[in-house]
Amino acid sequence: MTTTRFAPSPTGYIHVGNLRTALMNFLIAKKAGGTFILRIDDTDPERSKQEYVDAIQQDLEWLGLTWDKIERQSERLDRYNAAAEKLREIGRFYECFETPIELDLKRKKQLNMGKPPVYDRAALNLSDDEKAALRAERGDGHWRFKLDQQRINWTDGVLGDLSIDAASVSDPVLIRGDGQFLYTLASVMDDIEMGVTHVVRGSDHVTNTATQIQMIEALGGTVPTFAHHSLLTGPQGESLSKRLGTLALRDLRESGVEPMALLSLMARLGSSQPMELRSSIEEIAEGFDVDQFGSAPTKFDVQDLYPLTGRLLGETDLAAVADDVAAAGVPADQAAAFWDVIRANITTRKDIAGWWELFENGADPVIDDEDKDFVAEAMALLPEGPFDGESWGAWTKAVKEATGRKGRGLFMPLRKALTGQSHGPDMSAVLPLLKVIKARG
Ligand code: GLU
Repeated sequence: MTTTRFAPSPTGYIHVGNLRTALMNFLIAKKAGGTFILRIDDTDPERSKQEYVDAIQQDLEWLGLTWDKIERQSERLDRYNAAAEKLREIGRFYECFETPIELDLKRKKQLNMGKPPVYDRAALNLSDDEKAALRAERGDGHWRFKLDQQRINWTDGVLGDLSIDAASVSDPVLIRGDGQFLYTLASVMDDIEMGVTHVVRGSDHVTNTATQIQMIEALGGTVPTFAHHSLLTGPQGESLSKRLGTLALRDLRESGVEPMALLSLMARLGSSQPMELRSSIEEIAEGFDVDQFGSAPTKFDVQDLYPLTGRLLGETDLAAVADDVAAAGVPADQAAAFWDVIRANITTRKDIAGWWELFENGADPVIDDEDKDFVAEAMALLPEGPFDGESWGAWTKAVKEATGRKGRGLFMPLRKALTGQSHGPDMSAVLPLLKVIKARG
């Protein structure tokens, strides 16, 4: 049984970088008919906020990334206690008392001597009396997992065969001096107890994975399959870490990006498979393959989402946008005709209301100086209306005969005079919908 999880910390809004992780884990579970868990990593009571838990759920729901189960780490502290107990029993857990300043000094010394800044395990040599004295002086210590100093190997779903020397990594701190469990312990215990079979996350977690593999083994769990996707960069390859705050999913939603445009792009960005615009998450899941992703940083340009959104809306039936069309004030009996006329000419749903407003109230004409006389002459030839699908053709034919203009020189000034724009739907479809023609003067 395939089980995956998306494990955000509720310390902020989730962004496109998080989405990549969420989507990949979701798709693996979906494709296999397995279970997708939303796990809220809220072991840090100071930084975790309920408002972000709610926001994360809203963002995932907007995208249709629904979870089969939700778990919160803050409700599982007894399980993390049990894990800590077990690690103590088997001699893989030890208490340390160095202050952050002392640790920093040790690191600096090591770096000065050209050595890697790995924790020197000094606390392992403390006698019980020494520990008691330190505890009396400094309070409870923090607890580190004692790594087995050998190579840790795994075959990564994206990065291939990996091997990390445990001796080059500090024994990870799992419990802070104030008793707070840290993410690593919680995550390992959850992955074991929730039966997680596949973990996809960013390549910034590779070293964590190495230590977590040893911890899972020490706790008697089954090591899941790991895959580490590359991190996103901006369009020029620049780091996105500082800009991710501006790429929050809720901002993209506000700006009119369509969920399926975003998901279609994200499911293929950085993969050897070409982007295909899909209209359902099931279709995306069918073609999804984490092995096809490369290890190189993945370029992401938020601007790519708008043409994709426009394309998607062009292929969208009225039923899926009926609420927006009604909200724009379009009467039900005109909705289908209206949508057919505009759908290939909008970028986001936000453009719907603008077109209806234009049809209802007319547009301020745009008339270039050299076209003034031509437009005036054409307007004189425009019948009163109402117009039908033939009216535009008949009118422009008459204008052509009267003025001798043809092609773009004939059509463009008329489009701009009637709609105020140089782009838009087929004018023979627009004319019957136009209730006011301000260019008539
Ligand atoms: N809360 C962790 C993070 O957001 C989860 C990492 C993981 O997938 O284990 O980085």
